[in-house]
Amino acid sequence: MTEPSVTLAASGGQAAAPARPDAALSLRGLTVSYGEKPAVFSVDAAFPAGEMTAIIGPNGAGKSTLLKAALGVIPRLSGEVSVFGQPIETVRGRIAYVPQRASVDWDFPTTVIDVVMMGLYRQVGLLGRLTGALKARALSCLDRVGMASFADRQIGQLSGGQQQRVFLARALAQDADLYLLDEPFAGVDAATERAIIDVLKALKAEGKAVVCVHHDLATVRDYFDNVFMINVRRIAEGPVRTTFNGETLNATYGGRLAATHIDQLNLVEGA
Ligand code: ADP
Ligand code: MG
Repeated sequence: MTEPSVTLAASGGQAAAPARPDAALSLRGLTVSYGEKPAVFSVDAAFPAGEMTAIIGPNGAGKSTLLKAALGVIPRLSGEVSVFGQPIETVRGRIAYVPQRASVDWDFPTTVIDVVMMGLYRQVGLLGRLTGALKARALSCLDRVGMASFADRQIGQLSGGQQQRVFLARALAQDADLYLLDEPFAGVDAATERAIIDVLKALKAEGKAVVCVHHDLATVRDYFDNVFMINVRRIAEGPVRTTFNGETLNATYGGRLAATHIDQLNLVEGA
């Protein structure tokens, strides 16, 4: 497969995204607004199938908004969204979404196993009363994230990292082809971060596409194949090796990252 060239949007206008018919998720001209000022403006993006992509940008850059609007959780002002070349409406079942943890109501009285089984509601119609099979599937997904022994606990009683693992288990249970995760590593300990990245890399090895909003610039090179850099508008996208550099970081963060910080990111291959 040929690598897409790096596209860095000129100020004022945006370079057109290269056509990627093989994209797992493709956005064209996506604009989303909560009020007068758009939170996401005219964004083109192509998230490759079978690879891991980080969405990078400062707080308030529109990262969560982009995912939610792509999914149709919030309305878009304009733009087209396609998933594996199909309109999103027809392929929802192929997408699993793990929202930003802070956005979930943890007082909701439900057990860990029920949270995971909620991810299976699409199959319930087909499988009817086969709840035993669904439960076994949910348990095996909990096991994959090291949480099987917590199945009957109340979700609200778990630590932040444990809750994040449960939500990953729910996404796994959906057996999707495209995984969208919003800051899955935020506020988790090192062991949980390791557990989550191992599961995500296993998904990639199975040929799934993984897209994560990611806040830790220091791990971008280790964890991801591609970056999508956004600050309301698309700033740059492409392979980490060629796209994630001082120029694109400055363009994305508007000089808020000190030069020394950028130096510490060890951006040059083999440096
Ligand atoms: P990020 O995930 O990159 O931190 P968000 O997508 O959450 O950014 O937010 C983008 C912008 O939209 C921010 O200015 C934020 O304040 C605003 N915003 C997000 N959600 C809402 C909402 N429900 N109502 C109004 N404004 C919102
Ligand atoms: Mg966010």
